[in-house]
Amino acid sequence: MQKQALQTLTGWNFDNSYARLDERLASRLDPVPVADPELVIFNQPLAEMLGLVLRAADPSSLTSKGGSAVGKPPEASTNTPDDTLDAALLLSGNRLPPGAVPIAQAYAGHQFGHFTMLGDGRAIVLGEQITPDGNRYDIQFKGSGRTPFSRGGDGRATLYSMLREYLISEAMHALGIPTSRSLAVVRTGEQVFREVIHEGAVLTRVSSSHIRVGTFQYARHALPAERFGELIRYTIRRHDPDLAASETPAADLLVRVMERQAALVARWLQVGFIHGVMNTDNMSLAGETFDYGPCAFMNAYDPGTVFSSIDSHGRYAFGNQPQIAHWNLSRLAEALLPAIDTDEKAAIDKANDLLHRFTGMFETRWMEMMALKLGFPGLDVSDRPWVDGLLEQFRELRADYTNSFLALQGDLVDEGLLLTVGSPRDALERFGRIREQWQARLRDADIPLEEAAARMRAVNPAVIPRNHLVENALEETVQHRRMDSFHALLAVLRNPWECRAEPARWQAPPPDGDGGYRTFCGT
Ligand code: AMP
Ligand code: MG
Repeated sequence: MQKQALQTLTGWNFDNSYARLDERLASRLDPVPVADPELVIFNQPLAEMLGLVLRAADPSSLTSKGGSAVGKPPEASTNTPDDTLDAALLLSGNRLPPGAVPIAQAYAGHQFGHFTMLGDGRAIVLGEQITPDGNRYDIQFKGSGRTPFSRGGDGRATLYSMLREYLISEAMHALGIPTSRSLAVVRTGEQVFREVIHEGAVLTRVSSSHIRVGTFQYARHALPAERFGELIRYTIRRHDPDLAASETPAADLLVRVMERQAALVARWLQVGFIHGVMNTDNMSLAGETFDYGPCAFMNAYDPGTVFSSIDSHGRYAFGNQPQIAHWNLSRLAEALLPAIDTDEKAAIDKANDLLHRFTGMFETRWMEMMALKLGFPGLDVSDRPWVDGLLEQFRELRADYTNSFLALQGDLVDEGLLLTVGSPRDALERFGRIREQWQARLRDADIPLEEAAARMRAVNPAVIPRNHLVENALEETVQHRRMDSFHALLAVLRNPWECRAEPARWQAPPPDGDGGYRTFCGT
């Protein structure tokens, strides 16, 4: 990677509505400056959507070329005009863009089922960028230094994991799945100590908001009833403005969040995504995928698949995600109880009635999704055993999940790509029989193969960010400072619905299997 030429980043248009809410919801503080910031990657299409402009700068026009000394008082808060600042300084937190009011948000959460006070321990929301289209997005730094919520942590993040989040979040976006996005990664020029020494980095993350289930879990205890009600109405204004006049805001918000989660988790299952750490602090009320720590993609179909190093009981396994979403939503409902009804018993009854709907909501979304993956316009509850049976056969064959659907729709160049380590010897013959059953089912429904395939191509990705591809690209970037593989993979993932060039390279499951693959939180 060459040292970047100097560039400015302009077009900031901040509002700070969250910072204006009750002061107990956030701590006002600046990012901790870093030693030697250098832009590693920048997301041009996302910048355009946000109304931001990155352009080459004449070095003599810039007020400051180097980073501030670490530990100096936060010069950042002086709000120097952005057209005189190098983009790497802005995207590392060494200088602040005009209008930024940086805050670390307070929240609590259930981590693996245990309730804890958390808060942004290594993140800072700079403000809400109002886009040229009038939309509002949180601009957040991840890895920006210690905050009052850091507990024992160093407040920093590794280059490796910030680039991993960049790649996977952008892949999810390209798959059409609601997600936080990644605007930039800046290396800090500082070391970060984990089990080994890493290079440090700051990621700029963009989200519809960072309001989580854990925000409400915290606020329920931290705020008096009236202020708690204001937070509910604020959240509704941001994510469900059509409910602004609701007379039952807490209940209505809960239902909307349930609907968004049902839809989101169905989309994860569509592409084989395993979030890996669905703690309540990592579940967004906006219904976006966020907090890409130990997430990973499944190769061989198995609902029990887990990659996270700390998830020893498989709580967040691929197939458990709908149940965990339901569990988390129950925690949200609990937090909202006093706002649902002042009478506790009545509130509990109402909340339970609403929560009971989740299973049906998810089931509907899942069946719609599976129907399309199999080429049907829709499927009926009575078709469920057939779909379950088909997936069970994939599991027995240890068939690659993504490639199985591609094989059915006739788009897999080499049937060998269906097999993973541990597939039985006769797996391809048995897959042939699955295909025959499936074709018979289509014939019964009078659906021509071509019509089915067209429907399937819109939902079955040709490529996903397979763990081994992601690791190889990151390894090359971090160890050898070459980003060719990273950019090649990113380009393929930006167009996930087709894979014309070198399909075997991008579509093959890992040749040695992923039995030993482990992912980590908080790196
Ligand atoms: P996560 O598992 O990424 O959702 O993180 C859980 C909590 O730990 C959040 O409150 C984070 O802000 C905090 N955290 C994670 N890593 C660090 C770190 N290196 N320094 C301080 N806080 C951290
Ligand atoms: Mg988190």
